[in-house]
Amino acid sequence: MGRRKRRVVKIPKKRLPQIFLCPKCGKESVKVALSSDITSASVQCGSCGLKEQLTITRVDQPVDIYCRFIDKFYGK
Ligand SMILES: [Zn+2]
Repeated sequence: MGRRKRRVVKIPKKRLPQIFLCPKCGKESVKVALSSDITSASVQCGSCGLKEQLTITRVDQPVDIYCRFIDKFYGK
């Protein structure tokens, strides 16, 4: 009986939230979280609480969203 136990660890290929540098507090704690329908994203700093909700398109990468977040921050 060749009962071989093969452990297949499934790693869900989800878009992991990426961490960026916060323009306000300077810490690497800004997360970009895409909404499930990929029409908006929330960008939030886990350190100082800076938060922004952005409308996105399907082709936007987290880094693009982050760039817009930065633009918005300095554009205020
Ligand atoms: Zn911050």
